[in-house]
Amino acid sequence: MNRLTLRHDIPDAFLDISYRDIKKVFDTPTLVHLKGEKNPALFVSVLLHGNEYSGLIIMQEILKKYKETQGYALPRSMWMFVGNVEAASKGLRRLDDELDFNRAWPGTSEPDAPTSKLISEVMEKITEDGLFAAIDLHNNTGKNPPYGCISVVNEKNKYLSSFFNHIAMVFHTPKGVSTMAFDTICPAITLECSTPGNQLGIEKAVALIDDLMHMDHFPERPLPSHDLQLVKNSAVLKIADNVHFGFEGEEGNFDLTLVDHFDRHNFTRLETSEVFAHTTLDKPIVATLEDGTDVTDALIRNVNGAISLKKPLMPAMITLDKRIIVQDCLCYLLEDYFEKNKVI
Ligand SMILES: [Zn+2]
Repeated sequence: MNRLTLRHDIPDAFLDISYRDIKKVFDTPTLVHLKGEKNPALFVSVLLHGNEYSGLIIMQEILKKYKETQGYALPRSMWMFVGNVEAASKGLRRLDDELDFNRAWPGTSEPDAPTSKLISEVMEKITEDGLFAAIDLHNNTGKNPPYGCISVVNEKNKYLSSFFNHIAMVFHTPKGVSTMAFDTICPAITLECSTPGNQLGIEKAVALIDDLMHMDHFPERPLPSHDLQLVKNSAVLKIADNVHFGFEGEEGNFDLTLVDHFDRHNFTRLETSEVFAHTTLDKPIVATLEDGTDVTDALIRNVNGAISLKKPLMPAMITLDKRIIVQDCLCYLLEDYFEKNKVI
């Protein structure tokens, strides 16, 4: 049930509740407005994906810090949107029969879906009096460092990114992602806080949000270029259909064997000399661009069954979970955002 609840207070029970119990305090998607000293308000969204619960912990920490006997003494006004409470209570990213809460923001390909209607109610409310910045809190699977994602490259968004980590990603797809809805409204960033519950991701996000609560304005000087590396997605690697695959050290005969701890390559440059898989097949791995163009021959080298890249790129979001590899992908390959020569 996607009815939006609007409120101006935080029930005490919210501060310690687990995401699985969130419906005990917010039984529908809930938008909370809290007044603070400075305006315009900061917008923070959590649990757009129900099982990515770091965002809840982050906001609990922030709110506990400013709690007083009578409500909250916030340095800046705040909107907090607690999104997919139904999926969170079931430990799921989203329910099967609904549109993903992070594909339903303005620009979505499904504007008539109930989730999109709910989100447009949220947008209408939070933009009434302007916003200082918009922060969307997420987690990912696999061993990734915390990193920000921005859809517009400008100084404010670069500052937001660099406050979180020294690397950030620029993205323009898929449609309907929350951060893109703020392109023309205010600085906006998606914070990928590593795996759910990861302490470093939580600490970095708490520090960033706390900074934004206190800051009067964004720095005027351009961000020094060495403070931030911006990367973008260049290709996605998938395992070809019906290829029986496994990892080194695993029992069994595989058509494709990936090196042990492949995920240690996340966010580091994978050189062309680095063999990351062995195979008995000709093309066990498929590389495609965002638009679906097959670039396997341009990117993947297979020398007598030893697989490597033809160009050094940075893998990200490598997962070792076979179910996710089959459903989604093996990893993404990133390149520098300012790289002049196209990868392929
Ligand atoms: Zn997410």
